[in-house]
Amino acid sequence: MSAPFGVRSADVLIIGAGPAGLSAATQLRKLGVAHVMVVEREPMGGGIPRHCGHPPFGIREFGWVMTGPAYARRLVDRAVKSGVELQLGCTVVSIDHADDLVVTCASNRGPLTVVAKRVVIATGVRERPRSARLVSGERPIGVINTGALQEYAYLQKLIPFRRPLIVGTELVSVSSLLTCRNIGAKPVAMIESRNQPTVRPISMWLPRLLGIPVRYGTHLVDIKGRSRVEAVTLLCPDGTHEDIACDGVLFTGSFKPEASLARSVGLDIDAGTGGPVIDQFARTSEPRIFAAGNILHPVETAGWSWREGRRVGGFIADDLNARLPAADQAIRLKPGPGIRYVVPQRIVPGGEGLSHLQLRAADSVSGSLVAMADGQIICKQPLTSSPERRILAPISAFENANSDITIGVEGMQATDIRSRSTCE
Ligand SMILES: Cc1cc2nc3c(=O)[nH]c(=O)nc-3n(C[C@H](O)[C@H](O)[C@H](O)COP(=O)(O)OP(=O)(O)OC[C@H]3O[C@@H](n4cnc5c(N)ncnc54)[C@H](O)[C@@H]3O)c2cc1C
Repeated sequence: MSAPFGVRSADVLIIGAGPAGLSAATQLRKLGVAHVMVVEREPMGGGIPRHCGHPPFGIREFGWVMTGPAYARRLVDRAVKSGVELQLGCTVVSIDHADDLVVTCASNRGPLTVVAKRVVIATGVRERPRSARLVSGERPIGVINTGALQEYAYLQKLIPFRRPLIVGTELVSVSSLLTCRNIGAKPVAMIESRNQPTVRPISMWLPRLLGIPVRYGTHLVDIKGRSRVEAVTLLCPDGTHEDIACDGVLFTGSFKPEASLARSVGLDIDAGTGGPVIDQFARTSEPRIFAAGNILHPVETAGWSWREGRRVGGFIADDLNARLPAADQAIRLKPGPGIRYVVPQRIVPGGEGLSHLQLRAADSVSGSLVAMADGQIICKQPLTSSPERRILAPISAFENANSDITIGVEGMQATDIRSRSTCE
């Protein structure tokens, strides 16, 4: 049962009931923090997995393979059973941190104001929409992203199109083929602007099996159709244009953190991730506000986000007991050539936080990952990776540095990489 609205207080207020927010909340309760509240704008908790009607979820968390909705329900059950207060249908619209942390939420039950000792932003990611991809043309119905497709297909039982064009070849693009199949839609093609799939090439057996052509080095330049999508114009690798008939366009992947709130609060935002800058304890530039999950790194799996949320719950419990090192005096970590982002972006001396830096390559790379401080190499390890693959480097390698560190790729080349990063 939800407590009445109005002005409330909490030890920790978590924004977003996805895997990261719920695991942080559950861990905080396990560690004895008395009042943990999770605020979620959707009418159901569980985050993105609520509408991923496919396995595999839950292996790491529950020890067996589940569909997204079953996994989401389990996460919510576990949080509520541990004593977490869950406020659904409640959107956080502002965080005032001038003095106390005061979080304001809007809901159809009226406004809710929560004064909290600590806040966690765990608002996840979203896919880049058409407008941000600068695709020209008319504005007909039937142009959506995978999140909306999953929501239509699995939650609302709606069929947005029958013959869409799929833009992108990330993991989520391949999984959208299964969602299309479930609603009886057959994509006319998948297109990818690079000359190779973003997902591991082995996953491309699925479009082949389903008889869906995949076109590399191809760009979507125009969408045609007055009320519904009727056709698209593609720019082909040889520079020619080609029209293909279709009744929808599905933009997949190209994830961006859901960071509007973090921006509006005035937190430092990292240009590489698009999410808040954190230190190894997940503290943002306002050290009473933490962040966890995919808002930090587009994009990771549910299992990864869940595990990270659990660690962040532990850091906050330590912080409430004044057991974290001071947040100032940090060294900065910056991406160098060939690297798109590095998380965390700050390391403070002392204390054990996240064990690894997470990095992403800007493109397919092969060479060495090199960390430099004061013109000296402080760490070097072989690296072979593709875009969107997780690269990990142990934070312990950087703890003794006393000036800012730049991490880049040496001997970088764009290659047709087929293997995992050797740093993983
Ligand atoms: C379309 C799509 C498909 C995906 N498919 C998979 C998949 O098949 N497998 C996989 O492992 N990963 C998948 N992912 C990655 C997914 O991000 C992670 O699985 C996981 O959900 C990340 O957890 P999270 O807690 O960081 O964020 P989320 O699960 O995104 O949860 C964030 C929550 O914050 C809420 N929220 C946001 N802003 C506010 C606000 N202002 N006030 C209140 N609540 C707010 C949102 O409603 C949401 O419930 C997918 C992602 C997308 C976008």
